[in-house]
Amino acid sequence: MTDKALYWFTRDLRIRDNSLLLKAARESHRLVCVAIVDPVWFQHRLWQRPAMSPLRWQFLYQSLVDLNQALQAYGQKLHIFYGSSRKTLVALIGEHSIDRLYVSHQAGSFEQGLVKEVQDDLPQLNIHQADQYTLFNREQLPFSLEEVPESYSKFRKQVEHLPVIKPSAKPLSLPPMPGSIQPLQAQQQPDWLPRPQVLAPQFKGGITAAAAHIQSYFSSAAPSRYKQLRNELAGWENSSKFSPWLAHGCVSPRQLKQALLSYEQAHGENESTYWLYVELLWREYFQWLHYRTGTKLFAFGGEQGKAPLTTFYPERFRKWCEGETPYALVNACMKELKATGYLSNRGRQIAASCLVNELAVDWRYGAAWFEHCLLDYDVAVNWGNWQYIAGVGADPRGGRHFNLEKQAQQYDPDKLYQRRWKAQAKPALDSRDAADWPIMPD
Ligand code: FAD
Repeated sequence: MTDKALYWFTRDLRIRDNSLLLKAARESHRLVCVAIVDPVWFQHRLWQRPAMSPLRWQFLYQSLVDLNQALQAYGQKLHIFYGSSRKTLVALIGEHSIDRLYVSHQAGSFEQGLVKEVQDDLPQLNIHQADQYTLFNREQLPFSLEEVPESYSKFRKQVEHLPVIKPSAKPLSLPPMPGSIQPLQAQQQPDWLPRPQVLAPQFKGGITAAAAHIQSYFSSAAPSRYKQLRNELAGWENSSKFSPWLAHGCVSPRQLKQALLSYEQAHGENESTYWLYVELLWREYFQWLHYRTGTKLFAFGGEQGKAPLTTFYPERFRKWCEGETPYALVNACMKELKATGYLSNRGRQIAASCLVNELAVDWRYGAAWFEHCLLDYDVAVNWGNWQYIAGVGADPRGGRHFNLEKQAQQYDPDKLYQRRWKAQAKPALDSRDAADWPIMPD
């Protein structure tokens, strides 16, 4: 038992299937629940964009507000701090004499580095961590984190039949907040935060909206048709849309696996229900792979150091981001991404392939733009998928080059999707030639 503990909510913004929170509740007399909004997420970085768009911030904020409401039912509260994660934690732990920190494991090298830094600053602090973002615990894996298989198919063969841990129930009660922390009010929102944005109503952050969406998805026949429809460019029910809630931990993959099993028991298994699990295993693969690749996930040449023959063309990159390339289908994808923060898997593949292959732009700028825009941004999945397309990832087949004309014929034969996003092919890709002379229109 410990006197005072701090639970730092990160990408586990839920109380159901949160065994680390249950552990913290069992082991401490008083508990502080904290989330930190770090200004670094909104600063312009190496790749020219802040990591988090206003839309994703809106989704995250809604998720925090909803979590706070869930905690209030236990007489608890989510203290939201705005500031550097490291400094805020160190100050809080010092000021309130906290002796234990509970925080979920995350695959991100930056996130892992933060926990190490806090431990370095406070060597006496006991830090407890658990795998809550993945289907499996690291102890269940049949390989070490240094030996995660180099291809997805090898990974899948080894883990597909592992038992997925049953999600844990909600806590019955939570310890009270320490008296010393009582006066802490949620801080005023600082002026470096983006202005509130209007999200598409289907994408509302938080455990309540996640539960409603999962209930509605599994009450429909969509899971039994998933494999036939998942490649479509548009359509709410054509894929599960679980990703934004998964990425923020409003729901765990273990809860989804259980919902899928219940669906199969009621309606029968088929190739589609199996495929939904196959996709969750893709997500799983990228998480564990990132533990192996570390910061090489962001390297131009990837883990193998095979740099592609691309570079950075600011004008081409800007046109790609804004949906002004010579490819109308790509433009539609980019407009949807910017306006909604969501894009189908097919759309992501098409847009990424175009940036790397047609526009010959360094893939990392594309990955950073996706990072900025996506509501479901996940460091391991996003950068891992981009590495696949660019041919520098854990993929024995090399990169992916999609034939844009064929993709348009197959997935948007009547141009409905392109019209929906008012996308047109813009003729000129470059306004200057290689010698920096202006290119005159014909
Ligand atoms: P569904 O088709 O319903 O799949 C169910 C779940 O399986 C998804 O929610 C997701 O968790 C997982 N999944 C599906 N496809 C993939 C995949 N290709 N790789 C890994 N997991 C997958 N997904 C993210 O969650 N965050 C990202 O930042 C992200 N960036 C991507 C970048 C590129 C270039 C590409 C090609 C794909 C990216 N994806 C990312 C994967 C995939 O496009 C999305 O997970 C999916 O489109 C989300 O919609 P959905 O929930 O309806 O997916």
